[in-house]
Amino acid sequence: MLEVRDLEAGYGPINVLHRLSLTVNPGEIVTMIGANGAGKTTTLNAVSGVVKTRAGSVTFDGKPLAGVPAHNIVRLGLAQSPEGRKIFARLTVRENLEMGAFTRADADGVRADIKKAYSMFPILEKRQAQPGGLLSGGEQQMLAIARALMSRPKLLLLDEPSLGLAPQIVVQIFDVIRTLNREQGMSVLLVEQNARMALKVAHRGYVLETGRITCTDRADVLLHDPRIREAYLGE
Ligand code: ATP
Repeated sequence: MLEVRDLEAGYGPINVLHRLSLTVNPGEIVTMIGANGAGKTTTLNAVSGVVKTRAGSVTFDGKPLAGVPAHNIVRLGLAQSPEGRKIFARLTVRENLEMGAFTRADADGVRADIKKAYSMFPILEKRQAQPGGLLSGGEQQMLAIARALMSRPKLLLLDEPSLGLAPQIVVQIFDVIRTLNREQGMSVLLVEQNARMALKVAHRGYVLETGRITCTDRADVLLHDPRIREAYLGE
């Protein structure tokens, strides 16, 4: 579904990603774990078209994404829930969800999907008329994910969904990720500093160190690898 080959990307004179290759197959949850600054966000942003790629290729559903603007990448079925959530603070919760459906013309379908979002995250329905900026961190994270889902993506890019959230909210968000994958077959590329949670929910994982993939395997194998446990699981 997603194939990244020998990707190079960076900022100004600095290359952050060095010949990075990874794949996400249909129906898979794939996680990328790595330290602060390893290049996880840069990878997601290069896939979604937010950061320009310098070399290599990104192919989604057989289509090369080079030169495709970010808003058209969404139309192909690839949506991103960005790090730091980036919700529209002055728009209401409902308006944020409507913005997530900017690619769609089926008003009835959009309304039905807003209802689905509310059943997934009931707190969003309670807060639907409030400006997004008034929500708590956890509620904003739920809104960011729900907004990304409004474009009905085949692949969801999730950047640090657990960052700064209380443990019970993290559990709730990971349950939703699991359900979306299991019930709708949605593929997910998940970037997380909480490597334990990420490897528990994912099918496969990649370890990123200073812009290079240094290890990849089934998530349960990585979870039990002593080197990974020491470096990323705090053991
Ligand atoms: P974190 O979890 O801290 O976000 P990360 O693995 O997602 O880490 P990136 O955010 O991709 O890492 O950053 C990789 C490198 O690129 C870091 O050295 C960072 O300082 C640098 N970087 C990120 N964004 C920019 C930018 N807009 N301009 C210049 N350098 C940047």
